[in-house]
Amino acid sequence: MRFDIEARDPNTRARAGLLHTAHGIVETPAFMPVGTAGTVKGMAQEHLEELGVNLLLANTYHLYLRPSHETIRDCGGLHHFMGWPHAILTDSGGFQIMSLKGLGQVTEDGFHFRSHLDGSSHFLSPERAVEVQLALGADIIMTLDECVGFPSSHETLRRATKLTGRWARRAKEFWLRQNGWDSGFGVRDSATSDWRDSLKTPNSRLGISDSQCGEFGIRDSGSEIILPEPRVPSPGTRQSCLPNPEPRSPTPEARTPKSELFGIVQGGTDRDLRRESAEEICDIGFEGYAVGGLSVGEPKSETYDIAGFTADLLPAGRPRYLMGVGTPADLVECVARGIDLFDCVMPTRNARNACLFTSEGKLVIKNARYARDPAPLDPVCRCRVCRRYSRGYIRHLFVAGEMLAAILATYHNLHFYLDTMRQIRQAIGAGDFERFLSKARAGASSGTPRT
Ligand SMILES: [Zn+2]
Repeated sequence: MRFDIEARDPNTRARAGLLHTAHGIVETPAFMPVGTAGTVKGMAQEHLEELGVNLLLANTYHLYLRPSHETIRDCGGLHHFMGWPHAILTDSGGFQIMSLKGLGQVTEDGFHFRSHLDGSSHFLSPERAVEVQLALGADIIMTLDECVGFPSSHETLRRATKLTGRWARRAKEFWLRQNGWDSGFGVRDSATSDWRDSLKTPNSRLGISDSQCGEFGIRDSGSEIILPEPRVPSPGTRQSCLPNPEPRSPTPEARTPKSELFGIVQGGTDRDLRRESAEEICDIGFEGYAVGGLSVGEPKSETYDIAGFTADLLPAGRPRYLMGVGTPADLVECVARGIDLFDCVMPTRNARNACLFTSEGKLVIKNARYARDPAPLDPVCRCRVCRRYSRGYIRHLFVAGEMLAAILATYHNLHFYLDTMRQIRQAIGAGDFERFLSKARAGASSGTPRT
């Protein structure tokens, strides 16, 4: 996966780059809006394009349960299914399982869990997580990891970190074989039993008919957006993942995986474990590296310190993704520590709860003081919500329970996040990021404190 670092800030560890995915180039540092169930709540895909989103995150756990990865695969993959011709990253599903208290149980083999929808039993192994994500067809897919909360005992952290390492190796082995490579790691029977079963899937199930998805195009300002060809695995693709005892070279086609695999470093706030985990994950080797296990209740200073400490342990030439972080101020601080990619539900979830990010700080629009306020949500914001609607009107929409309230608030909050990232990239490119950082720290450019 090509990742070009275009500029480095001379005074911090911030860098600006271009991440080349199968569905376009992503300018980094980048923030990924969270499209949990194949939709960023309240936003049509054309709105996301208007905002300049070119990489979004979708949740494997939710899509696996509903409508199922098989359904999405049979509809040509997630890009085609949701009408999104740009890049997608899917998580492994593990974080959601562990977040659903009492519904998940971790073993050496993987997660046993119950669906929050209907209580049905499921099992997600490192191999199965890759298999599900390959069926979804995301551009970037994640290894299954175990993320534990804060505080956790050293023993709990150590066990989860070691398990994450073993799972990362199994995920990489499986991903390599799916792409026609021999892993070189050796394959254990216990690690492959479930995906060998999947090879029994009749080829007919992989077919796609016009009636399943039909022809559709999206019109935006009169121009038709060309959606990618449906990703339908060929029977040959399935064949290529049969275990092969003899080393062999990949076919030219197999050299370009459609879904690039990122590894995840765990270790909580323990620096020794972080170092061990980073060494192990880097030794396995991935196209990009994520810092997991942060923003789970630890003090903010620890989030920043560990993000920076871990980023320094990762290869300089590969993208670094800080999972689940954070506020606009967090983004600026962690870019300064060498992070390239972020995702967080905060701008969208807060918007639905009437909490807006503005250049002046947090604005809770339901407050009675805004009832007759003719000003926009943020006087300096250039988004189309702020150019058209008043605080008084948007407050009324929230109080009246109108769905437009969440739509307008989400649009503005995402604009605020994406505009923050745009300013960060410009500042790094101009060699001016340290001044931008100082300004953010002074509160002039940052959003709200964490809520
Ligand atoms: Zn706005």
